[in-house]
Amino acid sequence: MRIVIVGAGLLGLTLGYELASRGVEVEVLDARESGLGASAVNAGWIVPAEAAPVPAPGLIVKSLKWMVHKDSPLYIKPSLDPAHVRFMLRMWRHCNLTDFRAGYTAHLALAESTNDILDAYSADGVSFETHSAGLLMAFADAHNLEHHLPNLDVPASFGLDPQVLRGDDVREIEPVLRRGLGGGIFFPHERHLDPVAMMVSLRRRITEMGGTITENIAIDQVERSGEHIAAVHSGPHRFTADKFVLAAGAWTGQVTKLFGSPLPIRPGKGYSIDLQPPPVTLRGAINLSDAKVAVTPYDGRLRLSGTMEFANLDEVVNEARVAAIVQAPTRYFDGYVAPSTLPKATAGMRPMTPDGMPVIGELTGTTNAFVSSGHGMLGLTLAPGTSRALAGYLLGGPLPERLLPFTPARFTRRNRNAPAKSISGASK
Ligand SMILES: Cc1cc2nc3c(=O)[nH]c(=O)nc-3n(C[C@H](O)[C@H](O)[C@H](O)COP(=O)(O)OP(=O)(O)OC[C@H]3O[C@@H](n4cnc5c(N)ncnc54)[C@H](O)[C@@H]3O)c2cc1C
Repeated sequence: MRIVIVGAGLLGLTLGYELASRGVEVEVLDARESGLGASAVNAGWIVPAEAAPVPAPGLIVKSLKWMVHKDSPLYIKPSLDPAHVRFMLRMWRHCNLTDFRAGYTAHLALAESTNDILDAYSADGVSFETHSAGLLMAFADAHNLEHHLPNLDVPASFGLDPQVLRGDDVREIEPVLRRGLGGGIFFPHERHLDPVAMMVSLRRRITEMGGTITENIAIDQVERSGEHIAAVHSGPHRFTADKFVLAAGAWTGQVTKLFGSPLPIRPGKGYSIDLQPPPVTLRGAINLSDAKVAVTPYDGRLRLSGTMEFANLDEVVNEARVAAIVQAPTRYFDGYVAPSTLPKATAGMRPMTPDGMPVIGELTGTTNAFVSSGHGMLGLTLAPGTSRALAGYLLGGPLPERLLPFTPARFTRRNRNAPAKSISGASK
């Protein structure tokens, strides 16, 4: 069996690894060097406890308030582009408690095996910096802490042991936090790792096991015969396979158009900044929850990550938002001084869906194309579980129950009979 994966981010590489380790002839293609997408920019958190979907009760009011501030952590670009408008309206329809809790539970089930799989990677020689110090959500404002409490039963039911700390009690977990904050929630079993090191190591293991990583290949055409995909093309290059998996991150919406079943996957841009040496020493990762900034301590550096911009498919850096990210810790940490000049920031585009959940499984309208994308803010947390479950299915196993909520058919059912745009047997 030969399988071609389009996209060499965390989703493509973890799947490539799973398939190569089962003896499949696998080739992972990327439009540029592998691992440069959102997967390199993230905060490095493995956080099932924070796996709630983005569409949440209260998001509409909050996003309308934030839209008018140029340095806010959430930005929705005013646009009349019908795809953007449709996406945002669909997302707002999912901002209710029932969908929120169902999505949270589905994510937690998919993430349940993450730590075991990461340990298995390590045992197989996939090496990366990793820390198991838990995750602290810190709240400057006690009201924001209270707002989180009613849904803590969801992570608790998965054994994640949330500990609620009111006021200065939060300093027992992280003494660097200022006195007078609202409090925090500590999740002791969460961990963080270096995603770039993990991808470098996954790439090495894939090739050691006989797989191929082919870079600077942007898929721009699909060759099909009815519902069967015969090959994908990049300019003059042609790649045949028995099965194709689309894991092109925020670009997956565009790529699925080539396959005749467009999925509503759009970018949610965020930024990361590495401060070296670290301006404060932390015991573990901290979510500055009111400011929506992730703080990740690594050996010799501190990574700050944040913002969610629903706008264009580009990696342009917005300096006002970067400045807000580097200022945010001032409110929370004793001894933190923001850099006097704006440090270099990198933009990454999270692959977002209107219901805040990934899209994993068979692409409607084809017999041998699959998708693994739309993991939004949780691509690192969910990649190991996604790829292990999907690999088994691609090799003929039954569809695992935990993948059922993520079926692509929930978005494409009405497109089932829509013909792909095609030029003499190929679609473009
Ligand atoms: C600021 C920030 C912080 C985050 N923090 C966390 C966190 O702490 N924990 C967590 O779990 N998640 C986090 N995430 C989310 C996570 O990073 C993403 O969900 C994940 O990286 C998505 O991986 P991917 O492989 O789907 O996409 P990507 O990493 O973007 O990879 C997609 C790849 O597809 C390639 N591609 C695109 N088009 C084509 C084409 N036509 N042909 C061939 N290749 C193509 C691209 O070049 C790219 O390499 C964060 C994201 C951001 C931006």
